[in-house]
Amino acid sequence: MRERLSRAARLAADAGWDALLITPGPDLRYLVGYDAVPLERLTCLVVPASGDPVLVAPLLERPAAAASPVGGAGIDIRTWGETDDPYRLVADLLPGSSRVGVDDHMWAVKALSLRAAMPAAEQYAAGAVLSHMRMRKSPDEVAALMGAGRAIDEVHAAVPSLLRPGRTEREVGRDIAALILETGHVTADFVIVASGPNGASPHHEVSDRVLQVGDAIVVDIGGTMPDGYCSDETRTYALGDPGEDYLRAYAVLQQAQRAAWEAVRPGVTCESIDAVARDRLEADGLGQLFIHRTGHGIGLETHEEPYIVSGNTLPLEEGMTFSVEPGFYAEGRWGARIEDIVACGGDGPVLLNHRPRDLVVVD
Ligand code: ZN
Ligand code: ZN
Ligand code: ZN
Repeated sequence: MRERLSRAARLAADAGWDALLITPGPDLRYLVGYDAVPLERLTCLVVPASGDPVLVAPLLERPAAAASPVGGAGIDIRTWGETDDPYRLVADLLPGSSRVGVDDHMWAVKALSLRAAMPAAEQYAAGAVLSHMRMRKSPDEVAALMGAGRAIDEVHAAVPSLLRPGRTEREVGRDIAALILETGHVTADFVIVASGPNGASPHHEVSDRVLQVGDAIVVDIGGTMPDGYCSDETRTYALGDPGEDYLRAYAVLQQAQRAAWEAVRPGVTCESIDAVARDRLEADGLGQLFIHRTGHGIGLETHEEPYIVSGNTLPLEEGMTFSVEPGFYAEGRWGARIEDIVACGGDGPVLLNHRPRDLVVVD
């Protein structure tokens, strides 16, 4: 933790900021291991560019903060009472500041209150610094994401048994949410069961649509493990025969997805991974139907940097973890997506999901 805090302080100094102000959320958890619930009362980790970090916390949250790794690390916890002004407290810790980095996840009302308390301090989004650190995973973090990958694989292994004509997407989704918890996640963060024409909407969740023979069904699911790391995996299923056109397009998608993750290695840019998938789909006339980026980073958040998208010239580095999830979406007809989480290894891709990528036909 001390190592992460001192790196963050150094990067803040490099950015010309006097401090980082971090409120409950993934950045706070990443820096000091404190999984605080974001509430209206201000909890704020003040990380000065030089000097010791201080956690400003409501008096009633002191026991929780002290029980977290913050307590063990001996970080100073400065509490405030119900009628005190916590923003003043933060301002008094940073006299003469002219620039501060503010947590990307900070509530607007808190950022505005800090601005009022520190009118001379210009605010910048701290994500530039924090995502620089967070997108380069340590081996421990990659191992944590592997654990999340195994857990969600287990859920997908059970999905075919849940898909039957006559059940609704909502019923299937409820069963999947229960399985996400049973396999070791602490929360089921999203459950997409997109059957038939609903598959054409990439972020469809569930509806009362009844599954029918001939449906293709996109199942994209994920949750958060007790250590905070997230899972996210998509497989596409079919109830009976989805038809020739669909099978042909699916085969191309499968090649595109495979080619994209096979291209992962240090030095290759994020946008070129996107291009591999897109070029393959375009070559078969499916490019117009691939309406989103190829992937997103994953860690303590399901969507974080690096984004695998055209225009992102960031070269991959060992330890970066992200999804590779091309799809095709034909409005009114059907959709498909195949999604795996991939870690960039020292000389190639390390897949964190292992379910077969063939269309799973349920009879
Ligand atoms: Zn998505
Ligand atoms: Zn995803
Ligand atoms: Zn997904």
